[in-house]
Amino acid sequence: MTTLGGGSTVLHRPGTVGEAVASLAAEASAGRQVRLLAGGTDLVPALRAAVRGPAAIVALRRVLELRVRGASADTLTVGAGVTYADLEGWSLAPGLAATSRTVGSAQIRNCGTVGGALGSANPRGDLLTFLSAADAEVLLATAGGNRSTGIADYLRTGPDPGELVTAVRMARPSGPQTYLKIGGRQAAFPAVVSCALLVDRVRERVCCAVGGVATGPWRVATAERGVRDEVDWVTGTAPAAVARRFGQLVAEALRGAPPLPEDPRHPAEYRVHAGGVLAARAFARCLGAVPGAGRSG
Ligand SMILES: Cc1cc2nc3c(=O)[nH]c(=O)nc-3n(C[C@H](O)[C@H](O)[C@H](O)COP(=O)(O)OP(=O)(O)OC[C@H]3O[C@@H](n4cnc5c(N)ncnc54)[C@H](O)[C@@H]3O)c2cc1C
Repeated sequence: MTTLGGGSTVLHRPGTVGEAVASLAAEASAGRQVRLLAGGTDLVPALRAAVRGPAAIVALRRVLELRVRGASADTLTVGAGVTYADLEGWSLAPGLAATSRTVGSAQIRNCGTVGGALGSANPRGDLLTFLSAADAEVLLATAGGNRSTGIADYLRTGPDPGELVTAVRMARPSGPQTYLKIGGRQAAFPAVVSCALLVDRVRERVCCAVGGVATGPWRVATAERGVRDEVDWVTGTAPAAVARRFGQLVAEALRGAPPLPEDPRHPAEYRVHAGGVLAARAFARCLGAVPGAGRSG
């Protein structure tokens, strides 16, 4: 244990998840405010801007068990300490890799982690949009034990006090996946609007989430169901007209979602429209829709 800021902040540097949650529990039971520190890309600027820092910080850099990613026959598991740079070339997870490549600059991707994205829970966070489309499960640990919860529940409630995200788990891809993003200058701004789309050829479904329009990543379940029967699941293709219809259905679904606060540079109607355009493009990219085909419908 060390002290920072002239002794006002205690720094814990655990080597295991057990030690990390024990530090969280000890600080909480002493009534002191404690924050987890992973890559620091969100937390450090926030602490610099704050008048007072937390009483204690638990730095996760030495917890090597959080930095592991792996695959079983059915699932992929990604530790909370895995960075975007670790994921951007991962051939087993093309959607996660594509998402990671769109984040920030090389410096941000080298430091920013999966656990930090879940801890910040920015409604426009790129990874959260992808994990929502993937129906990911979030694994959490406390001094009292472990639990897991779906990404949608996690984003609704956040972690309990004293809880640490240890990993996320999702099904192994069984079809093409993509992630498309409209943003400002890369490396400096979060996504304006983004879209993650995964094709599941085993369960014969399309899974899609849009970020930057609603108060969190928004699953467009009615649009997903609306095109399911129009995909040729044997070849994994669909006519271009279906991609266009999917985009329209996504825009309709987004109009019913609770909107983010109004942003004069990107009005709500622009973001809804952009969400539909990205979804149509993602669908065409994953299901081989040929522009011009199927126009008669
Ligand atoms: C210049 C810049 C550009 C950026 N560009 C993008 C972008 O394009 N897309 C994007 O999505 N994000 C972007 N970000 C945001 C940021 O990089 C991501 O949110 C990143 O994933 C945060 O991870 P971290 O490891 O740095 O988290 P930290 O800053 O260390 O922590 C963030 C929060 O998560 C908590 N936390 C950390 N680890 C855990 C854990 N294991 N369990 C529970 N809580 C935890 C911390 O207490 C803190 O509240 C950008 C940030 C900057 C500064």
